[in-house]
Amino acid sequence: MKKLPALAHKRLFIGLTCGISLLLSLILILGWGIPYIGFKNIHPSVPYITGSLLILVLAVVGWTTFTLVFQITAGVKLWGADKARGLSVKLFLPLMELAGRLVGIKSAETRRSFIQVNNELVYSANQRYAPGEILILLPHCIQWSACTCRVSNRLARCKRCGRCNIGPLLELTEKYGVSMAVATGGTIARRIVVEKKPRLIIAVACERDLAGGIQDTYPLPVYGILNERPHGPCIDTLVSLTLVEKALRSFIHPENLPEAQSGRLNRFNPDLPSP
Ligand code: SF4
Repeated sequence: MKKLPALAHKRLFIGLTCGISLLLSLILILGWGIPYIGFKNIHPSVPYITGSLLILVLAVVGWTTFTLVFQITAGVKLWGADKARGLSVKLFLPLMELAGRLVGIKSAETRRSFIQVNNELVYSANQRYAPGEILILLPHCIQWSACTCRVSNRLARCKRCGRCNIGPLLELTEKYGVSMAVATGGTIARRIVVEKKPRLIIAVACERDLAGGIQDTYPLPVYGILNERPHGPCIDTLVSLTLVEKALRSFIHPENLPEAQSGRLNRFNPDLPSP
């Protein structure tokens, strides 16, 4: 499937979010207006009470949409942005998938745009973490399918033979001091998160698992990196090491980066080591 560029993902997310908000508002207004006459018969004040509630819900839907769109387009966090991310994760994604399917957009494409926007929201929260607070969570299919090492229980069993990404990823965890785990399914992933108690997860998976993981672990921030599937889904998948390292460098507090630890921090640009 042809992938959309980042800007198109944003536009798709914004389009679907605005469409759903309009639809929700219309449904709410109709839902309130139709039994209006009946409400009056119960008590003269009932239409005003239900009307006030309706205005409140419409205001929440409108503010959530505005906050999300503003943060995505301008990169500025408005009041209530965290709650807006919560609503987009819990409520908007299922509705977006439904609305997307109705207008012929595949679920994978909608989820990809949701993951992209979620990443921007997590990144623009401007939180930086100590390495020990970050967990890299990998799917089992990233391990070479013929490998006999049982790495899902213990990553140290990996012999770093170079046949899959686990070896180089282990080197990254050692370089940056973060932890890493392989999950063989959603239940195991949840158990790992409960045990390790990270403050940020950098998750690698397919569109479906990433979107599900972001929903499951909310309000814990999850930065999603899509895997590559040159052999088809769920077997011998790959991940871009550059993207994982870039994410690590974006979220680790500059003073905890390896070059700062070795006293070589470039004071003019903390992203770069001194020459
Ligand atoms: S790097 Fe080699 S030893 Fe390690 S998990 Fe992959 S295939 Fe197995």
